[in-house]
Amino acid sequence: SGGIVLVPTPIGNLGDITLRALEVLRNADRIACEDTRRSGVLLAHHGITGKSLVSLHEHNELRKAPELVTAAKAGEVIAFISDAGMPGISDPGYRLVQSCIEMEVPLEVLPGPSAVLTALIGSGLPCHAFRFGGFLSVKSGKRRTAMSTALESGETGIFFESPHRILSTLEILQDIDPNAKVCVARELTKKFETYHRGTPAEILEWFKTHSVKGEMVILMNKG
Ligand code: SAM
Repeated sequence: SGGIVLVPTPIGNLGDITLRALEVLRNADRIACEDTRRSGVLLAHHGITGKSLVSLHEHNELRKAPELVTAAKAGEVIAFISDAGMPGISDPGYRLVQSCIEMEVPLEVLPGPSAVLTALIGSGLPCHAFRFGGFLSVKSGKRRTAMSTALESGETGIFFESPHRILSTLEILQDIDPNAKVCVARELTKKFETYHRGTPAEILEWFKTHSVKGEMVILMNKG
């Protein structure tokens, strides 16, 4: 019988996909993905070809999710993969889960890679309690509030940040708490994976003297 399966995919290294994820993708009637071309590369890498791909992204999720869930109710097994990592984590997936619950359609979520937990463990910051705040805002005032709140909580704060704003974000962080323990985790699982750990000033120093590129996660704890 049909259902929806959320399948996490690699965040860089194409080998980071479970045996079960590959089996689900191989056997699905259809694979919904954010970007059919990008997911086509991953599938081809693992020898999965000739699959029917359908696009589900942030701009059509609201309309498309109930459509896919209706098809699953009628007997199709539909796998959903986002561009990278765990669906639903700053990625589409939430509406699909909501629709499954509302329409009483079987839902499975496979465990797998996410930049959030990978960065948390590699950061060396306390990992018994943490708060993930998604992408930091483009507005500096909102970034300040989000980071202050995380630091005040005593838990490790985890945010996604763009290379365009990392300098400004580190400057704000230095202003909020120059003694904060900070980590910027870049290009996880890829060739140039790097963890920068230290005070805001120490990390700023590095980012000011090097060209900044790649995907990154910023983590902080008041220590
Ligand atoms: N769903 C994904 C997950 O579970 O990791 C996150 C998707 S979100 C649209 C993309 C953001 O996640 C990037 O801009 C970056 O902040 C972070 N990210 C994803 N892959 C990463 C990697 N390999 N290294 C560092 N950060 C990464």
